[in-house]
Amino acid sequence: MKQEERLDDFVGGGRIRCPKCAWRPRKADRWSCRCGCAWNTFDTGGQCPQCHRQWRHTQCLRCQGWSPHEDWYTEKPAGA
Ligand SMILES: [Zn+2]
Ligand SMILES: [Zn+2]
Repeated sequence: MKQEERLDDFVGGGRIRCPKCAWRPRKADRWSCRCGCAWNTFDTGGQCPQCHRQWRHTQCLRCQGWSPHEDWYTEKPAGA
């Protein structure tokens, strides 16, 4: 079994990481909204696909710290 990390497994090709602990979220990771929806928040720029709540801060699943959503991007998304 391969131990290497494939960038394809990470959201944003590895360009997204926690500003506090540098943890990189994977495509399979899920965030929970208060409405009960679970989705990958980086697929939608922090917006819940069910109730359309815009989450301006995103919680790290490793260090549990909250950071402004845009601070997670090491490069700004093109055309945003
Ligand atoms: Zn929601
Ligand atoms: Zn973190």
